[in-house]
Amino acid sequence: MTGLLLDTPLSGEQREYAEIVRTSSEALLAIINDILDFSKIEAGKLSLDAFPFDLRSILEEASEIVAPTANQKGVDLIVHYPTAAPTHLVGDGDRIRQVVTNLAGNAVKFTATGHVLLAAEFLPSRDPVTELRISVTDTGIGIPAHKLGTLFEKFTQADSCTTRKYGGTGLGLAISKRLVELMGGSIGVQSQEGKGSQFWFSLKLPQAEQPEVNPAPSGILRGLRALIVDDNEVNCRVVRDQISSYGIRSGSASAAGEALAELRAARASGDPYDFVISDFQMPGGDGAALAVTVHQDCATAGATRPVFLMLTSVPHWREQKGMEDASVDACLVKPVRQARLIETLATLWSLRRQSEPEPAVPPPQESSAASLGALQERTASEFDGCGARVLVVEDNAVNQKVAVMMLSKLGVRADVAGNGREGLEMLQMRSYDVVFMDCQMPEMNGYEATGYIRRLEGSGNRVPVVAMTATAIEGSRERCLEHGMDDFISKPVQIGELRRALAAWLQPAEVGRLKDT
Ligand code: ADP
Repeated sequence: MTGLLLDTPLSGEQREYAEIVRTSSEALLAIINDILDFSKIEAGKLSLDAFPFDLRSILEEASEIVAPTANQKGVDLIVHYPTAAPTHLVGDGDRIRQVVTNLAGNAVKFTATGHVLLAAEFLPSRDPVTELRISVTDTGIGIPAHKLGTLFEKFTQADSCTTRKYGGTGLGLAISKRLVELMGGSIGVQSQEGKGSQFWFSLKLPQAEQPEVNPAPSGILRGLRALIVDDNEVNCRVVRDQISSYGIRSGSASAAGEALAELRAARASGDPYDFVISDFQMPGGDGAALAVTVHQDCATAGATRPVFLMLTSVPHWREQKGMEDASVDACLVKPVRQARLIETLATLWSLRRQSEPEPAVPPPQESSAASLGALQERTASEFDGCGARVLVVEDNAVNQKVAVMMLSKLGVRADVAGNGREGLEMLQMRSYDVVFMDCQMPEMNGYEATGYIRRLEGSGNRVPVVAMTATAIEGSRERCLEHGMDDFISKPVQIGELRRALAAWLQPAEVGRLKDT
């Protein structure tokens, strides 16, 4: 309710009071939840579930939950999940998420500068049971050695004035320890005062069936070359790992000047970079200035400009959204999920190829933009005149643009919602003929949003929902159908698939109207 209240016109004073009500009630809720959880465990009433879950998503989700606070403080959040490691395991994913979120929340709380790294490691094993270690490492205030032994006891905080400065109950670690032990694992900490801490836990979990990897969205990236520009070495390494498993070769630079020199050297050697993946905030010249310099440098040299992808944190998001221009192709908010990074690179590369002169050799695979070009004539305004209106629910600005552009080529008007919640609000305001729904989105994901849509509809009119998903990472067609979606297209979106989905789901009356025209 305070959230709703804050969305109404309020005077400055009223807004401030409402904000205080909201933060205080959130703090109170957190304390109540901790106490309830703890008493439940102590009473022996907590039972664990075992179901297949995606561990990589859990780490990514936990990082997204703590990202706003980390971003406000300027602390880098990094998720490292070994690319070849199994992602789907069987266990109590919700409780694992709770432990990871608690450790990550603490790490951000006690870190003022530097980074927080969430990492998974797998011990070699021949069994179907996997032994894994999740660690959360920070560059924060650290913990005095004599306190390390008691930290996992209930109501314990490293220093007695912690509550005043940092808040908290001293229950989080006690709960995490109990949960990990209930799952048969162990938990521990290493720390150096003033340097930082590493909290870790290890578990043995059976592997679930791994989803089939669909190389389609990433096939076009194989063999390309990317320069990663970031002053944080850990961040460079993680991005390198994320892209190398898709066959992208990479180099790195820690500052703008070094990046420019590396780009020139690569160009001179005849193996130029195709992408620059740059952090926004760097000492000695930010990412935006680098983008402009690269643009000018390539123009002067008469060379093709590499596709420029900017990684930014939330507080800079709005100012940087306006920055997507001649020098910056897209901005992504950190921490960036691997699926999103690959999907964005694939889409940007497709768009780039489309704007190039006709390739001498036909592309190996129909990519979104290439197919757009090829089908443009044939499909021009195909659904024109049927008056259909569709909603695209998608948080990634690049994908939004691509979907809307393709739909308009097909003669269909599309509105855009930035996440599931916005999508729901728009659906309540007007009716749509088809909804194209991304699955992974902040605030409310596509599965949840579709669940709400179906509940609100009851037995009334059912709007067709078509999932848009990168199959490799986000699960299968079955999962979409289970959640009340009707159809499924994979990303990067291809115009042919959009056309097929529209033909399948626009009401027969509308298509009929179309055939008559
Ligand atoms: P809370 O955070 O609610 O106080 P926890 O049980 O989660 O309770 O943590 C207990 C104490 O451990 C914290 O108050 C803090 O003193 C210390 N601590 C936990 N994580 C960290 C960290 N990453 N860096 C420094 N101190 C930490």
